[in-house]
Amino acid sequence: TQSQPRSIARAICGFCSTGCGLKVHLNESKQAIGLTADTDYPVNMGMACPKGWEALTPLAAQDRATTPLLHGKPVDWDTALQTFCRKFQAIMDQHGRDSVAFLSTGQIMCEEMAFLGALAKFGMGMVHGDGNTRQCMATSVAAYKESFGFDAPPFTYADFEESDVLVFVGANPCIAHPIMWQRVLRNQNNPHIIVVDPRKTETAMAATQHVAIQPKADLLLLYCLARWFVDHGVIAEKFIKEHTCGFEEFREFLKDYAPEHHLSAIGITAAEFEKMARTIAWGERVSFWWTMGVNQGHEATRTAQAIINLALMTGNIGRPGTGANSITGQCNAMGSRLFSNTTNLMGGHDFTNAKHREKVADVLDIPVERIPDRPSLAYDQIIQGIEDGTIKGLWMIATNAAHSWIQQKRVRDLLHKLDFFVVQDMYATTESAELADLVLPAAGWGEKEGTFINSERRIGVSRKVSRAPGQALADFHIFRLIAHYWGCSHMFSLWTSPESVFEILQEISRGQPCEITGIEGYDMLEACGGVQWPWKQSDQSQPKDNGQEVKEGAVKPMQQRRLFEDGKFFTADGRAKFVFAEPRPVLEPTDSDYPLVLLTGRGTSAQWHTQTRTGKSAILRKLYPAEVYVEMHPLDARNRAVKDGDLVRVKSRRSEIKAQVRVTSTVQRGQVFMPMHYAEVNQLTLTSVDPQSRQPSYKHCAVQVGAL
Ligand code: SF4
Repeated sequence: TQSQPRSIARAICGFCSTGCGLKVHLNESKQAIGLTADTDYPVNMGMACPKGWEALTPLAAQDRATTPLLHGKPVDWDTALQTFCRKFQAIMDQHGRDSVAFLSTGQIMCEEMAFLGALAKFGMGMVHGDGNTRQCMATSVAAYKESFGFDAPPFTYADFEESDVLVFVGANPCIAHPIMWQRVLRNQNNPHIIVVDPRKTETAMAATQHVAIQPKADLLLLYCLARWFVDHGVIAEKFIKEHTCGFEEFREFLKDYAPEHHLSAIGITAAEFEKMARTIAWGERVSFWWTMGVNQGHEATRTAQAIINLALMTGNIGRPGTGANSITGQCNAMGSRLFSNTTNLMGGHDFTNAKHREKVADVLDIPVERIPDRPSLAYDQIIQGIEDGTIKGLWMIATNAAHSWIQQKRVRDLLHKLDFFVVQDMYATTESAELADLVLPAAGWGEKEGTFINSERRIGVSRKVSRAPGQALADFHIFRLIAHYWGCSHMFSLWTSPESVFEILQEISRGQPCEITGIEGYDMLEACGGVQWPWKQSDQSQPKDNGQEVKEGAVKPMQQRRLFEDGKFFTADGRAKFVFAEPRPVLEPTDSDYPLVLLTGRGTSAQWHTQTRTGKSAILRKLYPAEVYVEMHPLDARNRAVKDGDLVRVKSRRSEIKAQVRVTSTVQRGQVFMPMHYAEVNQLTLTSVDPQSRQPSYKHCAVQVGAL
C-alpha cells in the first residue's frame, strides 16, 4: 500500500547548519511517504528537531510555484527564459555589466550554488552577486580569514561532548541548533556551561552560569577577560610563542581594559565576572562558541576575533573539546562560503589574485578574461546600488529579502524601482516573489540531489526523494537552461549533473585548505556518513577508523576531525594572528523618545527564518504563536500600564508595528525581544552593517513601546 515503505533514501535536512541525516521512506514509485532521523549518521545519531521531522510537509503546500509567472500570469518556460535573457542582456548592453546582480542563498546545494555563480559571472558576465549568508556567516568568514588565514571553523561536533567548559556567546543552541545542544547534553564531563547573552534564553536557563551583559557589551567583556588572563598568568606562553603573532601588541592594548573600570558598562558584577574568568581559567578543555548574537552586531568581526583571541591566548585550540567555534546558520552556509562564487572566487579563492583566476579558468577550461578581477558588491551595497539607480536588474534565488533584510520597508520600495526583477523560488507567494516581474518555479529540498556542508565542515549528500510539482525544475536544471538560452552552454558542457559538478569542485579545491580531492563520489559520502573537509587524495590511505577500536554507537574517529591539531594555521607564516580594535559605541543608543533596546532573534525550534517553508506545516504552526509578540520586563510593562497579552505599538525611527506583549523577566529592564520569524519585525530594524564583514546589525536598535 501507499503507506508501506519499499525502500529508503538518505537525505540531509535542509534547514539549519547542524546537517542532520534523515532516512526518507519511499513507495514503489520512489516517492517519499515519510521519514525518520538517521540513527547511523554521525551528526544526529537518530535525533531530529521538529523542523526535520516535518521536512516533507512544505513540498506538498498548495501555493507551490508550478509554472513560470510573467507579471503574475502563467507562461511557458520558453517564454520565461527568453524574457529573462532579453531583459538582462538589454540592461547590461545599455548600462554595463555592473548594472545587474544576483542574490543567492545558503539553502540550495553546493553544486547549484557553484553553477549559479559560474553562470552569472563567467557565462553571463555579471560582476555582482551575494548571498543571504551575508545575514548569517559573513562575520565569521571575515574573522577567520584575518585570524587564521582562511575561513576555517576548526571544530567537530564531538567537541561539544569533550569540553570541560563550554562558553556560548550570543548563541542559543537549545532552540537554534537543538541537535547540537543534544550533543552538549551527552557530555559526560559534568561541564561548566557559560552563556553570555543579554536575555535569559533557553540555553541560559540550562547553563551553569548566565552572564547577562548589556546588549553589545560583548566585545568589552571579552577584552576584560583577556586582560584578567594576562594579569593572572592564565596564558599559554609556549603556544603563543610558537603558533601566533601579535600577542605583545595585544597585551599592550589590554592595558585599557582593567575589568573594574568597565563592569558597569558591561552590566555585570565583579563577582559574576570573576566567576566566569576563574571557570575558564580552571578548564583544561575550553570551547568557545558563537553565532548570530555576535555575527549580527555593529562590530561583529572584532567581537568574533576577540573570542578567537581568548582561545589562542589560553591554548584552547587544536585539541579535543576546545576551539573558537562559529556555529553556522543555514544548511549550506558553508557551501556558499566556499563555492558560491559571490564575494570569493569559488573554492576559497580570491577574485583579485591573478594566479587564482588562472587556476580556476584552467580547471573550468574557460578564458581567464571571463573571470572578474574584482570582488562583488556586498548585499547591502547591492541594495544601495538599487537606491542609487546603478543596479537595475536583480535575480533573487531561494531567499526573501522583502521579509528578511534590515529596514524592510526600504527594501520593498527599492525592489519596485528595478527595471527587471526575477525571483526563483519554490513558492510564488513569498513577499519578494509577489514583487517580481518574473517568477521561476523551483524544486525544493528533497526534489533534487546534491551536497550540503554543515557547521563542522562535513559534506553530506542529499538524494532526490520526490518529484517537483507541475513545471517546477531543480535550480540546477534552471541554470542549465539559462546557460543554453544565454548562449554560453559550451562553457558548461561538463556540468551535466550535480555529481559531475561535484567532481569539478573537487578539482578547484586542490591545494586549498578546503581541499576535497580524496572524496570518491557521492557513494563515499553516503557510506562514510559525510566527510569533513579537508579530505585529500593522500588521506585516502588512512584507515577509515584510524585503526582504533570503536565502541558501538560512538562516532568513528575518521568522522571527528578538527583543524589545527599540528598548531599550523593557514596564514603565510603558519601563525594565527591576534586582531583587536577599540570598541565603538552602538549606532542607535536609547534616548527619552526611544528608551528601549530591541533585540531580535530566533523564537522557537519549530520555525525557520521567514517561515517560508515551516509556515506550511500545521504541526509546526501549532508549536508557535501565529501573531507577532514582544517580550517585555514586568517593571517596563507596569510603567506603561500594559499587561501580559495586551496589544501594543512598537515603534522605531523607521516604522511602527502592533504586537502582543509577553511580560517576562527573561528580558532585562530597558530591553525588549522580538522573534525574527514574523514579517513585521524587520520594519523596525536599523540599516547598519559591520564595517569588516558588511553583515547587518539585527541585534540592537532603539524603540518605544506603548499601549494602543
Ligand atoms: Fe537537524 Fe537543524 Fe534539521 Fe533540526 S533543522 S533536524 S537541528 S538539521
